Parts: sequence; C-alpha cells; structure tokens
Amino acid sequence: MFEGARGFQFHEKSIFESGAPGRTGVSLAPLDVPAVNPKKHFGAFARGVPAALPEVSEPEVTRHFVRLSQYNFSIDTQFYPLGSCTMKFNPKVNEWAARLRGFAQLHPYMPESMWQGGLELMARLEDLLSDIVGMDHVSLQPAAGAQGELAGLMMIRAYHQSKGRTPKKVLIPDTAHGTNPASCALNGLTAVPFPSGDDGIIDPARVAAMIDDDTAAIMITNPNTIGLFERHLPTISKMVHDRGALVYGDGANLNALMGRARPGDLGIDVMQFNLHKTFTTPHGGGGPGCGPVAFTKALEPFQPSPVIRRSDGPSRYSLDYNRPHSIGRLRSFVGNFGMMVRAYAYIREMGAEGLKAATDLAVLNANYVRATIGDDYPAAFDALCMHEVIVSDKRIQKETGIKTLDIAKRLIDFGFHPPTVYFPLVVPGAMMIEPTETESKETIDQFVAAMKQIAVEARENPDKLREAPTTTRIARLDEARAARKPRLRWSPPVVEAETAAGE
Ligand SMILES: *Cc1c(COP(=O)(O)O)cnc(C)c1O
Repeated sequence: MFEGARGFQFHEKSIFESGAPGRTGVSLAPLDVPAVNPKKHFGAFARGVPAALPEVSEPEVTRHFVRLSQYNFSIDTQFYPLGSCTMKFNPKVNEWAARLRGFAQLHPYMPESMWQGGLELMARLEDLLSDIVGMDHVSLQPAAGAQGELAGLMMIRAYHQSKGRTPKKVLIPDTAHGTNPASCALNGLTAVPFPSGDDGIIDPARVAAMIDDDTAAIMITNPNTIGLFERHLPTISKMVHDRGALVYGDGANLNALMGRARPGDLGIDVMQFNLHKTFTTPHGGGGPGCGPVAFTKALEPFQPSPVIRRSDGPSRYSLDYNRPHSIGRLRSFVGNFGMMVRAYAYIREMGAEGLKAATDLAVLNANYVRATIGDDYPAAFDALCMHEVIVSDKRIQKETGIKTLDIAKRLIDFGFHPPTVYFPLVVPGAMMIEPTETESKETIDQFVAAMKQIAVEARENPDKLREAPTTTRIARLDEARAARKPRLRWSPPVVEAETAAGE
C-alpha cells in the first residue's frame, strides 16, 4: 500500500557548528579602492567584532538548507489533511506571479506614482474579495486570520462608541475557533461562551436568551469548527441587529462556501478571510499570512488606515492616511503584499466557476472520507459535513486502550500528516480531517486504507501503535518536555528512542 521514499536520512550538526575558520562560500576580486573605516561612517552603529556567522562553503550551505527543507513535512510532498488549517496545494502559477520583478522588487518607500500597478492589484483584489462574500468593502491590511478578527472587533467597538455606547459582551458558541475569544480579550471585550445545540449548530432560541443591551456582537464561525453549516444564521443575524449589536463572521473556512453562499447575504457585518487558507498562499511553519477584513458600509469609516483611494488622473491609485475615525494601522506599510499577488493570481486563474467547483469538491471529498472510514471511525455528527469531517475513535479506544495520539503518530509511518486531533473539545476522541479539493480520489483512498489498517493494528498489535512513528528521523517526542525544555544545540543522535512520558 505504501509508495514513496523512506531512505537517505541524515543527521547533522547545526550550521553554526559546521565548517571551519576561514572557509567561505564566496570569492571576490581583491579590493581596488581604499578600504573605509565603518566606525568613521557609522560611529556606535558599526560592529566592533565580526558577526559570529558560520564559515562554510557554498555546497555545505546549499546541502544543509536543502536537507533541512526535506525534514519538513510539506504540502508539496504529501497529503496533509490537518483539519481547520486548510493545507491545500498552492498552484505554482501563484509563485510565478509573486516573483515577477515588478511585484517582487517593489519597495514600500517608493512614491505612489511609481507603484501604481501594485496599488491597482490591491484595489482589484479588494473588489474581487468583496464580490465573493457579498460585502461593501475590504481592507487587505491584517497579516493573519487572528489579526483580521482583532481588526473586525476593533471596528465593532469603534462603531458602538460612535453611537455613544460601550457594550462589552461578545457571544461565542462552543464550536468557535480558539482565536475568537482570544481576539475579544485582546480588544478589551468579554467573551461569553454558550453551548451550541445537540445537532452541532447554534440554536437561535439560545442566542435570544443570552443577548442583552451589553452585547456588542456575536462571533460566528461558518461553517463552524465541527464542519457544519450554521443554518439559522439569517434568523440569528436579524435578532442580533434588532438589539443594536453586530455579527462578526469568522471566514477562515470560506473554502466551504465560496461561489455557493455569501456571508453578506446571511447578515454578517464584518468578517476576515484567510488568504493563506482558502486562496492558496502557502502557510504553516510561521510563514506570513494575510487576513483581510470585509465589512458593510456602516463600518467603513473605522477600517484600518491607510485606505487605497481610486480616482481619475495620472496617478489613479493612492493611499489615504487621513482617516479620522479609523482604528489605525495594524501592520507596517500595506500588509503582506506577496500574499496578495498570490491570492489575486489564484482568483483570476480559477474564475467564478472555478471557485464554485473548488467549494463543491472540498465538500465532496470531506463527505467521501466520512462515508469511507465511517465503519471504523464514525462521524461525530449524523449530518452531511462541509469541507471537513470530525470523526471519533472512541470505540477503538474503548476496545483496545489505544489513544488518539497513537493513531495520529502511526499515520506518519504511512506517509500522511495526521489530522487535527483532540479538537474540537466537544467531541471525545476527535480527529478533524480536511482533505481539501486539491487531492485526487487515489490519494484519499490511500489515506482511508491507512486509517483502516491502523484500526486493525490497534486490535492486533497495539504496542506497535504506541511506538509509532518508527520510520522517521526522530521517534516519538515527549511533546510537553520539548516545549518546556527545548534542546537547541546539536548532539549526536539518540540511539534508543526516547519514549513518551505523556501527551
Ligand atoms: C485558522 C483559523 C483562524 C486563525 O487564523 P490565523 O491566520 O492562523 O491567525 C481563525 N478561525 C478559524 C475558523 C480558523 O480556521
């Protein structure tokens, strides 16, 4: 069943411990001008002693970093069904576009007249994103989904203040993403959690019972983190608006909606996109993100500054900093511009029909997983899911004593990134699988076969599962100790695998 390479594993020192004094990767011609004294020009800013940089040859440095890049699991090498994170394949045409000289070499301090093309791309992307979600305006500035949430909540607070009100509560269902309450707290608002209904979605009656004059907003992730569509949103939005509060929509999961449903039509007032999820800009590993916010006219005055202004004339696009009601700046310059180029390239390549087809396939693939592994890992909710499915290994756990973590680690031996585990908290033994639309049926079938094989192993050879992974460079880590006592220096490979002391 397993295809693909497992061989050629390298152990090596960190780059700072490699090489030899005087070794170098560049050869320059001898200086033919007088040497300058940096102290004279830069004073206290000049470095007194040389930087302690590694002294290595070009092949050493190239191989070191190429090998490091291969230690990483990546979407370009394997299936990565990490639920909630939308690890879908990023088309290479996006990279081509982002690397075009005219985009890649823009400098943020250039006068606006010299980067009209860049500003035009941003203006066009704002318009495309507004269209996709059916809202009036977009600001591209926030640098991540969570920062988009923060921007939206700051705008909501500013909106209420402009009406002479200071409501403090934000209602958040238990199926929300963890960043939602965090964004509230960061913005001086109080997150008020409430349970969703037995069917996994929000019950409007519960919202009606919670909402009061101190409610600033409700924050809704749709589809929610258990992969279900919030069917009662229009009713809930109306109820919230009638009390003078606003509806925040967490739009990170837009890959389940785009082309099929528009958050603006469901009564959302402000929402964030995760361009690094739905719109195929690479993410993970702490790389840059882009979390634009979309909002209605009523919230427009409060949007982050600067705002792209369109006008007629030779410089048609400019940045407007004169925004007296703005929540201010969230990010240096205009945000992560390279991500915007990638998202723009993706949207233009796909077109409206393509985006709709992506949504349909994402939902189809998740339901295919749900149907094919259901015998061993039943879905947590008895309903069609959206772009991701939550299954539970509760039964296998009960029969065999195997833990969710053991199953996740064993998947690595089969060449798959584990799905998100132990989340959402409302489902015991949760595994949150998001196949995304970019995977073929063959790949998904291989994954399902691996999951089934693991279910067999759990019964027949549970110890093998507890040791997994065994085909990786490093065996199972004690994750708690790794976080509390990180070992940042290289030391010779540990021959006997350290066993986990706990989860
Ligand atoms: C990923 C995600 C976020 C946070 O986005 P970041 O870009 O990681 O800050 C928020 N909400 C949901 C539903 C998500 O899936």
